[in-house]
Order: sequence, then C-alpha cells, then structure tokens
Amino acid sequence: MPNRRNLYFFYKQTEEMTKAIEPLRDFAKKHNFTLVSDYRDADIIASVGGDNAFLQAIRKTDFREDCLYVGINIDQLGFYTDFDIKDPNAMITAVEDEQLEVWRNAVIEVSIDGQKPFYCINECTIRSNVIKTLVMDVFIDDLHFETFRGDGLIISTPTGSTAYNKSVRGAIVDPKLPSLQVSELASLNNNTYRTLGTSFILGGERSLTIKIIQDGNDHPIMGVDNEALSIQHAEMITLRLAEKKIKTLKLKHNSFWQKVQRSFL
Ligand code: NAD
Repeated sequence: MPNRRNLYFFYKQTEEMTKAIEPLRDFAKKHNFTLVSDYRDADIIASVGGDNAFLQAIRKTDFREDCLYVGINIDQLGFYTDFDIKDPNAMITAVEDEQLEVWRNAVIEVSIDGQKPFYCINECTIRSNVIKTLVMDVFIDDLHFETFRGDGLIISTPTGSTAYNKSVRGAIVDPKLPSLQVSELASLNNNTYRTLGTSFILGGERSLTIKIIQDGNDHPIMGVDNEALSIQHAEMITLRLAEKKIKTLKLKHNSFWQKVQRSFL
C-alpha cells in the first residue's frame, strides 16, 4: 500500500485508551506511516476498541468512501475487527504475505421526509420509545405490503444480520448477497392486525418506505447502528442500499462464515 500511508486512529478519548494506543502509534511510525490528527487527511482510518468503536469510527468520519477502514480490537475479535492491538506484527506479516483483502461493505441509506440521507452499516431500527405500540405502513417499492403494529422494525445489511437482527431470529445473510433484511420487533397479530410475522429479505435494487401513522400517541425513535435519533415528527422514512460502500481491510483467512462459526457455534 505505497500510497496509503496517512493513518488516523479513532478511539475513545480517555487517558487509559490514549496510553493503550501509544505502542500502536510507535509501531505505525516505525513502519513509515504518517499519523494525522484530522481524519479528513487520512487514507487509512483505524478504529481501536471493538465493533462499537468501528461503528462509531465510520459514523464520526462521515462514512468516507475514499479511504480504508481497519478495525483493531482490544479484547476478543469482533465482526468488523480482524486485528488485535496486542499483535501489531500480525498486520505487517499479513501485508508482506499478501494475506489482506479489501471488503466493500454494504451501507443502508436512510432518508427522512426527503431530507439529506444518513447512513448505517449494521441496521436501522424504527421503534416505539414508549410502552405503546407503533403503527407503520410498510411499502416495498410502491406496493403497500402491510400495516405493522408493534414495537418496531429492524432493517439490516447482510453484515448487520449477525447483530440485532439475529437476536430477533432473523436470518444470517451472506454479505456477498446485496440485500436488506426486514425483521419485526413484537408485532401484534390478531383478527384486527396482521403482519407477515417473519423476516423478509429484499434484493439490493428495492426500496422500503415506512409511513408512520401519527395517531397522537406515536413516539417513534430511530437507531442507526449504535446511535439513536429522535424522529418524533417524521412521517415517511425511505431505506435502500446506498451506492457507496465502506472499504474495510481484513484478513483473507478470517471469512464472514468463520466469524459466524466462531461466535455462535
Ligand atoms: P453494544 O455494546 O450494545 O454491543 C452489542 C454487541 O453486538 C457487541 O458484542 C458487539 O460486538 C456486537 N456487534 C456489533 N455489530 C455486530 C455485528 N455486525 N455482528 C455481530 N455482532 C455485532 O453496542 P455496540 O457494540 O455499539 O453495537 C451496536 C449494535 O448492537 C447495534 O448495531 C445492534 O446491532 C446491536 N444491538 C443488539 C441488540 C440485541 O441483540 N438485543 C439490541 C440493541 C443493539
């Protein structure tokens, strides 16, 4: 990677983390990386601290398409973090042995009431913020598919399918399939209200539109990865796979399905 040597470390700004990261900074300088203090000057953005830090790193650096993201763990390896802070040499060995690859991670584009879109890499969750059901009309492209009443919906990418989506018994989707998965959070199903009752997976060309039924008692909240947004007055939310992808540096021999096996079986 001769032209990609401007490196920015993203981590929680605590005294403990700053200290923990010092050997990594020395290591990077020794290997001729230039450490930059502004992420906009970086070619490589390295998050330190697990999936949580990786998700925050992408968000806080504006989902950049023109740089490489690298996840470095401080405990056990995560789904987005292939490298270990205790073994920086492994990264250099992987470069020398050509054991690295760049994965282009799907991103969901979310637009509220036609406003400027924002992005997520795991999932977007639309749910009730109070102990009351939320009612939403769900459209696949232009088709009014169902009226949902319940706690909420999770719309996940394939790489997000192993996260919140899995906890509600959604399917794990191979990241080689560009798609959006829609999973329910406690839907009400009776003679008056009916939803599909299972997760469904949409091809990458489709869009999902959610119209929140404003009955005066609706208190929706939106989660985009590990960030919460108030959408109290939102009427229409449109979700689709974004054209942009997030380039992530990973180890060749640590595939998605190996991570799934290691984490869940
Ligand atoms: P967190 O601290 O609540 O951790 C949630 C766990 O999910 C962590 O172990 C993290 O490593 C793991 N995780 C994150 N992304 C993953 C992925 N793509 N595949 C498998 N595991 C993954 O929060 P965090 O670390 O900031 O992660 C945020 C994510 O937590 C959200 O995007 C959402 O998917 C998930 N979440 C899950 C539940 C649930 O399972 N009930 C509830 C809320 C949020």
